[in-house]
Amino acid sequence: MQARLGADDLERILDRHGRDPHVLLQVLRDVQALLGCVPAEAIESVAEALAVPRHHVRGVVEFYSFLSEGPPTAFRVYLSDSITDRMLGSEAVAATLCGALGVRLGETRADRRVKVELTSCTGLCDQGPAALVNGRAIGRLDAARAEAIAARIEADEPLERWPAEWFEVRNEVHRKDAALASPLAPGEALARALALGPEAILEEVRVSGLGGRGGAGFDTYAKWKGCREAEGLHHVTCNADEGEPGTFKDRFLLMERADEVLEGMTIAALVVGAEHGLVYLRAEYEFLVPHLEEVLARRRAAGLLGNDLLGSGRAFDVLIHLGAGAYVCGEESAMLESFEGKRGIPRSRPPYPVRVGFLGQPTANNNVETFLHAAQIALRGGAWFAARGTHRSPGTKVLSISGDVPRPGIYEFPFGVTVREVLDAIGASRVLAVQVGGPSGTLASERDFDRVIGYEDLPTGGSFMVFDETRDPLAIVRNFARFFAHESCGFCTPCRVGTTLLARDLDRLAAGKLSARELADAEAMAHVIKRTSHCGLGQTAPNPFLDALDRFRPLYEAKLAKEFVPLFDLEKELEEARSLRHVCLVPTGGRTPP
Ligand code: SF4
Repeated sequence: MQARLGADDLERILDRHGRDPHVLLQVLRDVQALLGCVPAEAIESVAEALAVPRHHVRGVVEFYSFLSEGPPTAFRVYLSDSITDRMLGSEAVAATLCGALGVRLGETRADRRVKVELTSCTGLCDQGPAALVNGRAIGRLDAARAEAIAARIEADEPLERWPAEWFEVRNEVHRKDAALASPLAPGEALARALALGPEAILEEVRVSGLGGRGGAGFDTYAKWKGCREAEGLHHVTCNADEGEPGTFKDRFLLMERADEVLEGMTIAALVVGAEHGLVYLRAEYEFLVPHLEEVLARRRAAGLLGNDLLGSGRAFDVLIHLGAGAYVCGEESAMLESFEGKRGIPRSRPPYPVRVGFLGQPTANNNVETFLHAAQIALRGGAWFAARGTHRSPGTKVLSISGDVPRPGIYEFPFGVTVREVLDAIGASRVLAVQVGGPSGTLASERDFDRVIGYEDLPTGGSFMVFDETRDPLAIVRNFARFFAHESCGFCTPCRVGTTLLARDLDRLAAGKLSARELADAEAMAHVIKRTSHCGLGQTAPNPFLDALDRFRPLYEAKLAKEFVPLFDLEKELEEARSLRHVCLVPTGGRTPP
């Protein structure tokens, strides 16, 4: 690993990405890969080269989990801490790995050879426990593999020489419906779209009723029409930042159906009048870049991308933009900020991205799966698509199913299917609860099993995590609460402070230290967080806590402390604070003892 960023290195990186300020994140990613960190002098060089303030560059480095100012480590291991990883034994794997390496979780070893830490979710919930080692995804971890990884780290063996099967990512598709059962040949949907013209394709999208597959279900027709009518240089962006724990179906679609996704983007570009497209690929899916670049090159060679789409004179091309570890960037406006080389802080809306999006220009942003459906609609028609699903939720939904199920993997169902029908179809038994839509979705218990998957009832971006009767709902909710506290971008107080307090309260509950009054306070606070947070992350972060309280209240009550347990020992804290000459003497507990 290099110690300094040389002028030649920076030139090479800038040649690859360009010199506009909006490529900052891509440049910093490359510096991090080269040096193992982005040290102060590299921040200065990058700031100068891109003509952006140094504090802006430092702010971006601090914002993204996979960037750091240092110190560098030869091996950086991120263990996935999704609840499904825990169910598959990730805590034992962490103990084995850290024990073998002689390092504490979250700390850099004294010789700076290795750091092992937790990350939220790596998108391998169907093949966990999982980890990223220097950005490379490794699934199916167990004690033996953890020890073998430690041995190779100790031997300073480059990842290229590690066993290839460790890096193998498998996609198990167990149920196909309309979309997955009938793949398109590259170019056939685009040829039809060019023959019909943008107005006719837009009409097919209207007839289809296609809602966004990221979870919110916004009408694709309205989005494309709004973007088409907006003045300016248009863009099409694809949200491939599926960071919701339990979701991995976009990984599969990009690995096995990338042509259709890119074809959907190209058709969207024809409709809205864009010549420029971007895919926001989550950092955890960096291993997909070579494959996606290959598909892009093949499509350019076949005239399906480039300056003259199938001889039509229309132009469109796509670039891949890698994230750097920030769940909030899955939020549309935060993603646009990230595309522009900034911290992923969600924007205030309106104006909406269809009018003021990437670089302030009209942008049609859709999820990976939405683009796949759009390509199929362009070829087969809106009525074909709308023949499945429900009136409010036409079409089918690709689900990522994980947890206590015989066969985790990819399943496609028509919208309108009930939770119970899904559970029967996947062979799940003795089910206690299902987290539909990931931590920001709904924790469904038996009483919800006849509810339907769809925007009218239980929306989901694709995550469907199953928990059987052996699982503790409070442990699940605690994991989700920590996830949100970690992923809050910190911009607004209700979310920044509230998610941390909720996570702390759940820790105290698990330890038998939370009183009934504090639980009532936490419930009230959860509603305030939902009502007053700036973006969807904060507005949904309390969902697991509230859902579990609603469905499993006796479990909470059984753990309550009989009397108030102080948050801290005031005398001890004050003594320590005085000795350290702290200015602020009183830790902010936020609660008055009853
Ligand atoms: Fe950031 Fe949370 Fe506020 Fe969203 S709700 S802007 S994630 S602090």
